[in-house]
Amino acid sequence: MRVLKFGGTSVANSDRFEDVAKIALDTASRTQTALVLSAPAKITNLLVALVNQGAQGNSADKEFEQIRAIVEPIITDLGKRHATFDTDKVLAEFNNTMTVIKQRLDGMVLLGVCPEQVMAFVESRGESFSILIMSELLKALGKKVRIINPVEVLVTEGGYMESSVNIELSKAKYAALEDDKEAITLMSGFCGGNSKGELVLLGRNGSDYSAACLAAISQAECCEIWSDVDGVYSCDPRAVEGAVLLKKMSYAEAMELSYFGAKVLHPRTIAPIAQFKIPCLAKNTKNPQGPGTLISEQTDLSVPIKGITDLKNIALINISGPGMKGMVGMAGRLFTAVSRAGVSITLITQSSSEYSISFCIPQSELAKAKRVISSEFRLEFKEGLLNPIEVKEGCAIISVVGDGMRMVRGISGKFFRALAEANVNIRAIAQGSSERSISAVISQKRATEAVAFAHTAFFNSLQRIDIVLIGCGGVGGELLNQIKRQRDHLREKNGLDVRVVGIGNSRHFICDANCIDLDNYKSLLDASDSEPLTPESAEQLIKDLHLINPILVDCTSSEALALKYVDYMQAGYHIVTPSKKANTNSYEYYRQLREASKKHHRKFLYEANVGAGLPVINTLQNQLAAGDSLIEFEGILSGTLSYLFGLVEDGKTLSEATYDAYSKGFTEPNPADDLDGMDVARKLLILARECGLELELSDIDVQGAVPKQFLQGANAQEVLLNIKNADADFTKMVNEAKAEGKVLRYVGSIKNGKCQCKVTPVSADNALYKVRDGENALALTTAYYQPIPLVVRGYGAGTAVTAAGVLSDILRIQNWARED
Ligand code: ADP
Ligand code: ASP
Ligand code: MG
Repeated sequence: MRVLKFGGTSVANSDRFEDVAKIALDTASRTQTALVLSAPAKITNLLVALVNQGAQGNSADKEFEQIRAIVEPIITDLGKRHATFDTDKVLAEFNNTMTVIKQRLDGMVLLGVCPEQVMAFVESRGESFSILIMSELLKALGKKVRIINPVEVLVTEGGYMESSVNIELSKAKYAALEDDKEAITLMSGFCGGNSKGELVLLGRNGSDYSAACLAAISQAECCEIWSDVDGVYSCDPRAVEGAVLLKKMSYAEAMELSYFGAKVLHPRTIAPIAQFKIPCLAKNTKNPQGPGTLISEQTDLSVPIKGITDLKNIALINISGPGMKGMVGMAGRLFTAVSRAGVSITLITQSSSEYSISFCIPQSELAKAKRVISSEFRLEFKEGLLNPIEVKEGCAIISVVGDGMRMVRGISGKFFRALAEANVNIRAIAQGSSERSISAVISQKRATEAVAFAHTAFFNSLQRIDIVLIGCGGVGGELLNQIKRQRDHLREKNGLDVRVVGIGNSRHFICDANCIDLDNYKSLLDASDSEPLTPESAEQLIKDLHLINPILVDCTSSEALALKYVDYMQAGYHIVTPSKKANTNSYEYYRQLREASKKHHRKFLYEANVGAGLPVINTLQNQLAAGDSLIEFEGILSGTLSYLFGLVEDGKTLSEATYDAYSKGFTEPNPADDLDGMDVARKLLILARECGLELELSDIDVQGAVPKQFLQGANAQEVLLNIKNADADFTKMVNEAKAEGKVLRYVGSIKNGKCQCKVTPVSADNALYKVRDGENALALTTAYYQPIPLVVRGYGAGTAVTAAGVLSDILRIQNWARED
C-alpha cells in the first residue's frame, strides 16, 4: 500500500481535484493506494474564523458565504465534466453538513462560548468536504472507493485540539477493518478519535501527520506528501530565491527541519514513519513527473547542510539569579512546570556559569508560561533567589540543519559570520545535542534577511545587490549601460549578483525581481501605467520582491526626492546618488540624513558629488577617520571652468573661451550656471561639511568667474553676448597674472573655517598650476599631508566617469544590512 497525502492547495479547485484523481489512479494501477486529504485551501481558516465569530455571538454569514463560494463551484464543475458525477447528491450532502455547522454555530451564539469538542468537529469539516467530492469523482472515473473514518481508526491521546496518535492501538483498529484490494482508500486528514470515540484534531496542518500514521498502521511501502512545491528545499522556496531542491535526506534531518519551521512537513509527520522505516516522498501535485525529495534512513552526505529554517512568533524567557547556581533540580522544576501547563519549549540554552537558563516558547503561550513559573518559584522570587522573569518578545529562531555537520568543521563559524554580515544581533544560541542543528534566536524583524544571508553562505556563493534606480537620463542611463556591461564580470570575478530590480522616473516605476531587461527598459517604462515610486510603495517592494539589501540610486536632480532620503532609509534602502541636492540642503537636513543612516543602518553614499568619479569623499572620510585633520583645502572643482580657463591661458578671450566650451556641450544649457560659481560653491560646501564645518550655502563667499551683471540674459545666446562686456577686465587680469609668472584658475578654498570660491592667480609651484583642459584637482593640506598637500587629480566631469563613481559606491554596499 502507498499512502498519498494531498494538502489544501492540491484540492483548492476542480482542476486540482482532477490532478489528484489522476495521480491516485496512476498509483492505483501499480499498487494498492490510500489517499489522505486536507480541506480545500482556505476552508479550515474560514471554519476557524466562523467558530471565533460564533463564540463572540456573531452569525458568521460572511464565512458561510465564502465557504460556499469555494466548495460549490468545485462540485458543479466536476458535475459538468463527468456524466456519472452525482452533483445533486454531493451538493445535498454538502448542504447537510453546512446545516449541521449552522446548528452548532447557533448553539455557540446562544452560549457565547464554543466548547473545544464542538470546535474540533466544526474545524474538521473541510476535510469531510474533500472526501465527499473525491469519492464521487473517483467513482465517476470508474474506480471503487473505500472510505475509512479516522475517528474510528486513529486512536488518540490528548486534548480536542491537538492530540497524538497511539500507533499500536490504531494498528489493531486498522487491522480489524475490512480490506478491499480493488478500491482506493480515502481518509480525511487532521482528525482522529479519543478513547471515548469522540472526534479530536491533530493540530493545525496535521494532515501530514494523519497520513504518516495511516502509513505506519497499514505498514505501507511508502508515504507520499503532495503539496505545491517540488519537494523539500534548502529554504522556503517562496521566501528565498535560489532555494535548492534536496534529493534525499534522513528522517532525523527532516524531523529537525520541520521542527524548526520548514512548513512543507508537519513536525510530527516523521516519527511514525521513521519508527517503521517507511520511506517518505515529498512531491508536487502540479509537477508529478518531478523526482521529489526522498526521506529515508539514508541521507546525501555530499550536501552536509540540508537547510536553513526560521520559526517565528517566539518569546525568549530568561530565568536567572543567585538561586540558580549549584541548586540541584532548578532546571528540572522549571521545565516540568512549563510542560505541565502544556507549553512546548522549542529551544533551551544554559549559561556555563549555571547562573541563568534561557528558553524559547511560542509567543501565544507566554502569559501561561509566566503564570506557572511565577507560581512554581514564588518563594524564590520573594526571597530574591531569582531575578524577575526577563522576556524578549518578537523573536525568531533561525536554524541550520544537516547530518553532515558532525563531520564538517566550520559550519557554526560560517553561520554566525553570515549573521554578522547581515548585521543581525544574536540573542541566544543553541546547538542540538545530536549535532544536527545550530540555532540562533534573533529579532523576528530580521528573520528574512538572516535566512537569506545564511542561505547564501551555505548554498550560493553569490552576494546580491538590488538596485532601484530613479532617473535614467544621462548619468542614470550610462549607469545602466555600465551595469549591463559589468554584470557577468562581477558575477564571475567578484561573486556579486547585481540586479536592477526597479527603474523609475517622475511619471512611472517598473520593477522585476530578476533584473529588468536592460535593453528595453525605456520602452517598458514608457508603456507602463504605474505610479512613480514613493517611500511607502518602496517599503512594500522590499516585501513583494524579497529584497535583502536594496539600494535607491537617485540619478535625478529632484529636490523633492532628495528630501525623502530619510523616509527611504527608514523603509530599508541604502542611498547612492550623484545629486548634490540633499547634501547642500539646510544643515539641519544634512544632520538628519546622517542620523537616519546610523539609526536604520543604511548607507548614504555620494562619492560622485565632488569630482565625479575621482576618489574624493571616500578618501577624505578615510583620512579623517584615521585621525587626520584638514588644515587647508584648495581645488579646481568645475570641469567646465577648468577647460575654459585653459583656453584663456592659451590666449583666447573669456567670451571666445565660453563660446567654445558652450558649443562643445561642456557647459550647462545656460553657461551662466557655470560662470556664477554656484556649482563650485555647492561642492565646496559638501567638502566643508564633511570636515565638520556646520555651514550653510549662504555662508560661502562666492565670487563668480564673471561678475553677475555680465551673466544676465534671457537665454544662452544673450548671456554669451553679454559676457563680451567682461572681456577687457578679464584680459587685464590674465595679463597681470602672467607678468608675475602666474595663471588664472577658478579656485574653491577652505581655510580657517571659511569657504571661498573665486578667480585666483596661481604660481608655478602650486599644485593647481598645471590643472586645465577639463581636469579637476583637489589639494588637501592636512595634519598628515604638509607642507606638500595630498592631491587628487583627473577628469571630474562627464556622464561616464560620474556613472562609474556611482557604480563604485553601489559596489561598496555589499554585505550591509539593516539593524533593528
Ligand atoms: P499543504 O497545504 O499542501 O500541506 P503547506 O502550505 O503546508 O502545503 O506546505 C507547503 C509550503 O511549505 C510551500 O508552499 C512552501 O512555501 C513552504 N515551505 C517552507 N519551508 C519549505 C522548505 N524547506 N521546502 C519546501 N517548502 C517549504
Ligand atoms: N486543513 C487543516 C489545516 O489547515 C489540516 C491540514 O491542512 O493539514 O490546518
Ligand atoms: Mg501542510
